[in-house]
Amino acid sequence: SIEVPDRVIIPYIEGDGIGPEITPAMILVVNKAIEKVYKGSKLIYWVELLAGDKAEAKTGKRMPEETLEFLKEAIVGIKGPLGTPVGKGGKSLNAILRQSMDFYSAIRPVYWLGQPAPIPNPERVNVAVFRENSDDVYMGIEYMPKAEDTKKVREFFVKEMGVDEFALPEDCGITVKPMSEFKTKRHVRKALRWALENGKKVVAVVGKGNIMKATEGAFMNWAFEVAKEEEFKDRVITEGEPKEGQVLLTKVITDQMLMQLVLKPEAYDVIITQNLNGDYISDLAAALVGGPGFVPSGNIGDGYALFESTHGTAYDIAGKGIANPLSLTLSGAMMLEYLGWKEAAQLIYSAIKRAIEDRVGTPDIANGFKKMGIEAKSLSTMDFAQEIVLRM
Ligand code: ATP
Ligand code: MG
Repeated sequence: SIEVPDRVIIPYIEGDGIGPEITPAMILVVNKAIEKVYKGSKLIYWVELLAGDKAEAKTGKRMPEETLEFLKEAIVGIKGPLGTPVGKGGKSLNAILRQSMDFYSAIRPVYWLGQPAPIPNPERVNVAVFRENSDDVYMGIEYMPKAEDTKKVREFFVKEMGVDEFALPEDCGITVKPMSEFKTKRHVRKALRWALENGKKVVAVVGKGNIMKATEGAFMNWAFEVAKEEEFKDRVITEGEPKEGQVLLTKVITDQMLMQLVLKPEAYDVIITQNLNGDYISDLAAALVGGPGFVPSGNIGDGYALFESTHGTAYDIAGKGIANPLSLTLSGAMMLEYLGWKEAAQLIYSAIKRAIEDRVGTPDIANGFKKMGIEAKSLSTMDFAQEIVLRM
């Protein structure tokens, strides 16, 4: 937990595409929830920061220095989707943000609120995926097939390390997969703290440790070392039944986990994993409850967190006022939880649940119900947000 004043300055980035439509919806819902629960004793001062299309139009830069400077001074922030223009090269704005702020854990809690979903009994899904965000193949250390530097790296492995030529033929490309003990352990600590604070029971460390012993295998072992640390040793058990206030930490191989998520999603409460596996697993988990439009996410660093919608910019529907605001709104609720304002977050969750139960929603939600033969009312982004507020 962090120390939070009753009046917080929260910077937000609208984002591109549908961003300017879903952001006001999120702000409306979050403000109303705080107002209802705290009756003026807690307050958010929203400060807009420029990034993406809007920043480029006003300043010529897609990620102005002031935006990064402001974010660094804040406790939390929230953002809509940012686009990366095709053909301009360079890093995506999301990558710039993630790296310059060192958000090393991405958390994606996945649960079902009643929306149309592709599996039977979607209420079984309630799992938080903790994806490491500063390590793994995302570091971009790559050698293209047949390039001069690939040849050198290959020669080192074949000549110096005695690696079989069959494993590294001349025409191969090489991607380096670094995995650091420091980065792994700080991520695992964040995930275990969250699991304990939220009364979770079964925490799975996921990877292909049997194949990649030096990286994913090491990651899994380091996680168990963290469990033995003073902070966790009495509360994180590695066998038996977890008692009140304890979690069970267990190892699961990635392929096994993917199958389990589809067949028996209720088996796990928290998944701790690396960057690449986390990418696959968090999208699969989101799909189980209807897709990324219904799932929030947060990027957590030391002393700072940035919450964001999980879907993209959706330029195809931008400007029409029909975008589904739930991913960003749920991210806003998650931000309130992070601030310790749990009652307001709960109010948002239950109001959204009620709205969906009453079969009101943006066209994507309404059409999903109609496909199932269930009547539903199709609303604009802002009208849907108003319906959520009405149910608080
Ligand atoms: P990006 O290039 O930033 O990933 P995208 O347009 O591919 O953006 P995705 O999130 O990948 O966005 O979404 C794919 C499609 O799903 C969109 O084109 C849109 O039709 C639909 N979609 C995504 N988010 C939403 C939303 N919040 N509400 C309604 N439809 C959405
Ligand atoms: Mg996309």
